[in-house]
Amino acid sequence: MMRQPILPPAMLGILGGGQLGRMFAVAAKTMGYRVTVLDPDGNAPAADYADVHLCAPFNDHAALKEMAETCAAITTEFENVNADSMRWLAQHVPVSPSGDCVAIAQDRIAEKSWIAKAGLATAPYLAIETVEGLNHDLTPYLPGILKTARLGYDGKGQVRVKTAAEARAAYADLGGQPCVLEKMLPLELEVSAIVTRSSPHEVAVFPVAENRHAKGILDISIVPAQIDPALAAKAQQMALKLAEALDYVGVLAVEFFVLQGGELVVNEMAPRPHNSGHYTIDACVTSQYEQQVRAMCALHPGRTDLLSPIAMVNLLGDVWQADGGEPKWDVLMQAPNAHLHLYGKKEARPGRKMGHFCVLADSAEAALAQAEAIKDTLAP
Ligand code: ATP
Ligand code: MG
Repeated sequence: MMRQPILPPAMLGILGGGQLGRMFAVAAKTMGYRVTVLDPDGNAPAADYADVHLCAPFNDHAALKEMAETCAAITTEFENVNADSMRWLAQHVPVSPSGDCVAIAQDRIAEKSWIAKAGLATAPYLAIETVEGLNHDLTPYLPGILKTARLGYDGKGQVRVKTAAEARAAYADLGGQPCVLEKMLPLELEVSAIVTRSSPHEVAVFPVAENRHAKGILDISIVPAQIDPALAAKAQQMALKLAEALDYVGVLAVEFFVLQGGELVVNEMAPRPHNSGHYTIDACVTSQYEQQVRAMCALHPGRTDLLSPIAMVNLLGDVWQADGGEPKWDVLMQAPNAHLHLYGKKEARPGRKMGHFCVLADSAEAALAQAEAIKDTLAP
């Protein structure tokens, strides 16, 4: 069934008001839409750009009812939103991605089985639904990483284990909740591909980003990824295949491991714009946030051409002074090819994503080198 395009100045709703919601709101407002944000945090970063901020829990019936009555379409900026809230909203208003797709992304066990259903490889893993799961022969998955099936992000809810005894102890430490034990793979590097799908015939995929992590959190993304272009094209095809298998509508980010030897396996997916896609604001014809607006409004995805090589650096609270004082911005702000994005968060805590900046240059290597040099000037 063809959905009718939703045009400005319609009201668009978003569940979650963090930095992804904030950048979504900027894109939507720029295009002339109005925005309603649902987030229980009175200081939610997205609220600065929202027409309406419903400050209530994600399962608050009155707030959901107001969204259903006032919004022409609804999306989400984080996967841990209550999937039942999304399914309830979908009875009244178009919701994308679907609550079902979000529920799959919330649960590593469901996620990995869908990745396999799409015909794509993951790391070897064992689903451990209950403590009995630990009675299996664990050796094919060791050394490995025990990951909680739900609510993990930025490396939280993960323990690296070498032996079966360590895996059992880690399972108990994580509270005996459902987990996956994933074999530790020899990574050459990590990449991501972000797909936009408005309908089965309306898809687009962004250039592949190469992602470097520090302490389990994305640190730097470089585009184009420094890999064989054929391998990058393969990652794009795999991401498209996963979106197809899920009959996905919206923006879907897919994270991959590139193994030593060149094999690509899917790590995980996010049913939303992704930290590794922030670069699209500064370097692509269409940003991932505009794509989210387009997909939810049943518009064709915009073009994804890369206008320039680019490096993106995450700014965590660690870069702020101990007393909360601002980093030294002067070098960054004086660079004509650097762009600062701050999320308006009041309190800078270690590990908290406060903002990011991008550097555009003639090559990805040059962008990376300059971005790292600028980063070194920021810290107190
Ligand atoms: P986020 O949601 O922030 O991306 P997460 O908490 O969901 O993170 P994962 O993506 O599962 O965590 O893992 C975080 C990082 O740990 C990966 O990006 C990778 O660097 C490393 N890692 C995870 N699984 C494996 C594995 N099987 N083999 C080698 N390294 C791994
Ligand atoms: Mg990850």
